[in-house]
Amino acid sequence: TYIFINDEFVDESEGKINYSDRGYNFGDGIYEYIRIYDGKVFTSKEHYERLFRSAKEIGLNLEGYSVEGLTEVTKTLAAKNNVVNGGVYIQVTRGVAPRNHPFPDASTKPVFSAFSKSYDRPYEELKNGVKAITVDDIRWLRCDIKSLNLLGNVLAKEKAAQNGAFEAIMHRDQTVTEGSSSNVYAVKDGKIYTHPANNLILNGITRRIIKKSAEALNIPFIEEAFTLDFLNDADEVIISSTSIEVMPVIQVNDNKIGDGKVGQITKQLQKSFDNYIESEA
Ligand code: PMP
Repeated sequence: TYIFINDEFVDESEGKINYSDRGYNFGDGIYEYIRIYDGKVFTSKEHYERLFRSAKEIGLNLEGYSVEGLTEVTKTLAAKNNVVNGGVYIQVTRGVAPRNHPFPDASTKPVFSAFSKSYDRPYEELKNGVKAITVDDIRWLRCDIKSLNLLGNVLAKEKAAQNGAFEAIMHRDQTVTEGSSSNVYAVKDGKIYTHPANNLILNGITRRIIKKSAEALNIPFIEEAFTLDFLNDADEVIISSTSIEVMPVIQVNDNKIGDGKVGQITKQLQKSFDNYIESEA
């Protein structure tokens, strides 16, 4: 299995990270996760544009790198590992420098690394829906940056796992923000509600596709924060991400959503998403 590290494709047993890498010491870096469908990279432009945005927001200089170049790396890595359906994870850190909080010397080079993996789409869950729990959103106030610092997300997801749930839906006070690794939507009376894409959530690439689908389907897409009570009382609940696509949530904590079955709007959005995959391929 190949990984990409320090501008090279090497066997994973040969990949080495310097212990003074700021990603290792501080989580000082950013990442993206890009889907491969049928041997083709999916929405890589959107993902890499978001990576460049994250870089800008943390003052990480990515001069010399481009969306096109990184897409090429992604394609090559997937091809070298014969990934037909799966994904590529890519991260970039602020580089190697003796541990000290301020940014290192401007000449310090960012360190890129990437791995790929193969897996099928989560057909079973997409068809039947999943369970979620709710947890406090204890993260920082720049969740719009796809930072390597994921402790808040990790603790939330672990709680979901311990409770036999697929995802942890987070809330600040009573306001639903997003999932530990997904965006969250509540459908009520034929309208889709989701938290605005501000500093409190990651503006998901899948979220953007869902927004476009909703517009094409003439379903109102309302970017307004909603409460836990609203979530519990929703007709349908959906979570979305690059790896789980348009995923129905049929139970939140002990509460059944709607009639406990996958809803009609969810199904319409899933169909649009399938068409989008086809059109990109
Ligand atoms: N929010 C968080 C916290 C995430 O980790 C993810 C997954 N990257 C998302 C939302 C969904 O984003 P995307 O659709 O771009 O995968």
